[in-house]
Amino acid sequence: MGGGPAGLIAAHYLCRFRRSVACFDDGDSRALRIPLSHNFPGFPNGIGGSDLLHRLLLQLDNAGGHVTAGRVSSIDACDDGFIVRVGSHAVAARTVLLATGTRDVEPEVEGIAAIRERGLLRQCPVCDGFESSGKRIAVIGKGVHGVREAEFLRTYSTQVTLVDVTAWPRRVDSRPSGIVVELADGSHFECDVVYAALGSLPKSSLAARAGAELDGDGNIVVDAHCRTSVPGLYAAGDVVVGLDQLAVAAGHAAIAATTIHNDLRQAAKEASERQVMEQAIGNPAISEAQEELLSRNWSG
Ligand SMILES: Cc1cc2nc3c(=O)[nH]c(=O)nc-3n(C[C@H](O)[C@H](O)[C@H](O)COP(=O)(O)OP(=O)(O)OC[C@H]3O[C@@H](n4cnc5c(N)ncnc54)[C@H](O)[C@@H]3O)c2cc1C
Repeated sequence: MGGGPAGLIAAHYLCRFRRSVACFDDGDSRALRIPLSHNFPGFPNGIGGSDLLHRLLLQLDNAGGHVTAGRVSSIDACDDGFIVRVGSHAVAARTVLLATGTRDVEPEVEGIAAIRERGLLRQCPVCDGFESSGKRIAVIGKGVHGVREAEFLRTYSTQVTLVDVTAWPRRVDSRPSGIVVELADGSHFECDVVYAALGSLPKSSLAARAGAELDGDGNIVVDAHCRTSVPGLYAAGDVVVGLDQLAVAAGHAAIAATTIHNDLRQAAKEASERQVMEQAIGNPAISEAQEELLSRNWSG
């Protein structure tokens, strides 16, 4: 589930493991909002989010995979895996990978869309704080999260202004010389870039309905192999607790896909051993003592 970087990279790995893969996506990847990323490995001049997604789709296509446009509406466990519903279709899957991402909370302030369009509304200092070096930075934040983000941005600039809920900005005005932030009390100040530090909302409701454990912020909890608390259900990328970054999504995807492949191999091995045992137990040529031994080994 999900055709962002995590879903596409995992699907590519799984195709190369010669698995049958269905990848569904409803077209709202966070990566689409990246104007130019300078911290994704292998692109010395940076890469735009939509360009990256395009390349990942081509790579998946080369491995024989593709993405189906559609929104997954439910995942229900059944005897041999899951039933995934997309529109009027139901797809049976032995395993499901949730790579559904997260949604940034944007400040509800007049004029914010205009600064977003100019690439001056930022969500993640880890991604692009470096590009804000020496600039006048405004952080629109909430509580401790806002303070932490403002402190982090001091790595890049001495001119960081934190605007908390108490002085909630009324309007941001995008001008050629900079951005004018007008506060509720009528005062205003100028900056070059605005960071939103209002958190994000992980897209984990289907995971929760399927019984997967979430943390207090709604992120899916996984083990070191990207397994959720529900057998057969895996998760990768921004929807998982941790750093919301392209490189992390790629790393999770590689781990999750390899774990899925190995878990399926192990399940197939156990099923075939069980079948051999069952056939041996039903064979009259095998003595009663051997039968008992076999059945004891099997149940043990
Ligand atoms: C403005 C901005 C700039 C950024 N800059 C950088 C940067 O420079 N460097 C960096 O490393 N990271 C950057 N990031 C973060 C990066 O975009 C994310 O870490 C990355 O996209 C996470 O990939 P993902 O596959 O986990 O999630 P996403 O890319 O969000 O993909 C999830 C996909 O799942 C789909 N989906 C969700 N629910 C369903 C459903 N029910 N059915 C079907 N499909 C569903 C969504 O529509 C979406 O397409 C930036 C983010 C933003 C917003």
